[in-house]
Amino acid sequence: MFITTLISQALLVSGFSETAGAWENHQPLLPYILEKLSDSDLKILSRKIPTEFEPSLRKRYETLATSLQLHPHGKLLSTAPDGKIATGAQLLAVALDDPDYGMDQDLPPTADPEGDRPFMGGLTGFRSQGFRHMFFGGWKFSHPIATFQIPTRALGQSPDRAALTGQHARELLHTGDFAWGLRVLGWSAHYIQDLAQPFHATQIPNLRMVPWSALLSWPPGKAFGNLVAETTRSITNFHYAYERYVDHELARGMSSRFYTCLTGTKPLQGNANPLFLAHDVADHSTKIASELGSALMSVYGKLKQPEFDLGNKKGDLDFDRYLEAPEMQNSKNRSRLDEVTCKALNHAVDSSALLIHWALQS
Ligand SMILES: [Zn+2]
Repeated sequence: MFITTLISQALLVSGFSETAGAWENHQPLLPYILEKLSDSDLKILSRKIPTEFEPSLRKRYETLATSLQLHPHGKLLSTAPDGKIATGAQLLAVALDDPDYGMDQDLPPTADPEGDRPFMGGLTGFRSQGFRHMFFGGWKFSHPIATFQIPTRALGQSPDRAALTGQHARELLHTGDFAWGLRVLGWSAHYIQDLAQPFHATQIPNLRMVPWSALLSWPPGKAFGNLVAETTRSITNFHYAYERYVDHELARGMSSRFYTCLTGTKPLQGNANPLFLAHDVADHSTKIASELGSALMSVYGKLKQPEFDLGNKKGDLDFDRYLEAPEMQNSKNRSRLDEVTCKALNHAVDSSALLIHWALQS
């Protein structure tokens, strides 16, 4: 009990992972999602966006910011390369990344009634959005290692935000507000996609990432504080590196190592209620987190060492050199990392497709 209290207190200023992004960019997932949709969904998404959408963007956002408890100055991503969004699919593409640009940051305490933010990135700045982009389901007696977290209660609003924005999007679409329905639908898909990233569904994906040697630090009274700080540093390093790896691969499009695994499979059938989807995806992420952690340790193990503190720009990862490193060239290690990532991305894609179909058709 004493240990738990100590670590909890230290976490008030720390948090095990200090990044608040899940997938560095969500847009690259859209082509794979579209492939899973029905012809009728695609027909709807090919409709033109009304010309009055762009000029009223800020005003309408501010109204939504009040009803959905968003930051009033959240940035909405700009649109297609020529500055105009032409179709529903293009709008959905930009909407998928909107939530990482300020709408969930620097919110008043009323937005966080459970007090989750201190454990999930802090109260201000970019990391303060973490509590709406992650969900740690709570420690479970039946899976004590896979669900280890501090505090032991469930933390984070991500499933609730997916549900709130998903339901609102469907209402807008059904009342004929095509453009704003899609924009808000993209936000809902963003939260669900975040949960498909195991670092967003577990506080410590694999206990091997914890630098236990910090417990030996001096003086003894500070050992637990050092353990928390060192664990935060280590897990943040792996989180950053993983995001960059996935982003780098997805940006390669058809040459991506994930291309084959994300294409050609049948669309899923099932319960598409956004709250159900979000929890289902989070549960799945918890199940594969240890596997991902182990694969990352095998290719990125050195990130546990003190010379790397990527959250504080220390020991910046030279990504090109990293990809050429002998550990990365080991095909067995690389295959393990790709396999587990494929599972995570497939969940992001399948659940997004189910959500979009549900909002457009039901
Ligand atoms: Zn996010």
